[in-house]
Amino acid sequence: QARRRAEQHLALLNSELEQRVSERTTELERANQAKDMFLANMSHELRTPLNAILGFTGTLLMKLPGPLTADQERQLNTIQRSARHLLSMINDILDMAKIQAGHLEIQPEPVNCAEVLNEVFDHLRPIAEQKRLELALIAPPTLQIQTDRRALNQIMLNLVNNAIKFTDRGGVRIEVEPRDTQVAIRVVDTGIGIREADLGLLFVEFGRVNSAEVRQREGTGLGLRISQRLAELLGGRIEVQSCYGEGSTFTLYLPQ
Ligand code: ADP
Repeated sequence: QARRRAEQHLALLNSELEQRVSERTTELERANQAKDMFLANMSHELRTPLNAILGFTGTLLMKLPGPLTADQERQLNTIQRSARHLLSMINDILDMAKIQAGHLEIQPEPVNCAEVLNEVFDHLRPIAEQKRLELALIAPPTLQIQTDRRALNQIMLNLVNNAIKFTDRGGVRIEVEPRDTQVAIRVVDTGIGIREADLGLLFVEFGRVNSAEVRQREGTGLGLRISQRLAELLGGRIEVQSCYGEGSTFTLYLPQ
């Protein structure tokens, strides 16, 4: 009888526990939905005014309303640079949140690799030219891989943007090498390089090398973390090799 009573007691405890777990789950689901709504709204609310700032600064800089003094032009350029930096930080933080919430949908399709890489170069060419850096692409022109075009584009934009940002002379080369089951896309730069002891920092959220030469270049420390997560979602990974003072190579491996 004592055993039956103990069993009844246990069953009662069990059902109470189940109820509490289910209440907690609903609570968590609601909190998660609220967070997603917040992020979706925030993304819109933050980007709209920033785009207005960028738009009107651009109009002023084109001297459409009238001529500018050298001082005014310098100040407008600072406004524009700061607003662009803020926009890219907001984009990074929202992308990170989206990935963490599991809200990023991967839609594989046949993608021409060289085409995407040329687009990335075209986008970043003005910055490279300003720094007098050479850009080179070595890729089989017709190679197609089954992957998500947007994610591939975002990863490559991050890697090439970093390569340009952390390079002051020489240039950036992309090499695409198809292998049996995977394709390797290498971004090779002749930049500041990374000490071996700092390599562990790179793919960590907000991780930046703590040196003057890195601090003087703008960044959030989120780009590589986002890129690595995206690469994983595509079934691949990113690896890095670097020689301090000589340059770095970031390689994206994707299944093909
Ligand atoms: P961010 O570029 O915004 O700082 P990332 O996550 O893209 O953030 O990169 C993290 C850190 O890795 C950088 O701050 C820098 O210290 C290092 N890093 C990334 N790419 C390179 C590169 N091509 N050359 C040298 N250091 C790099």
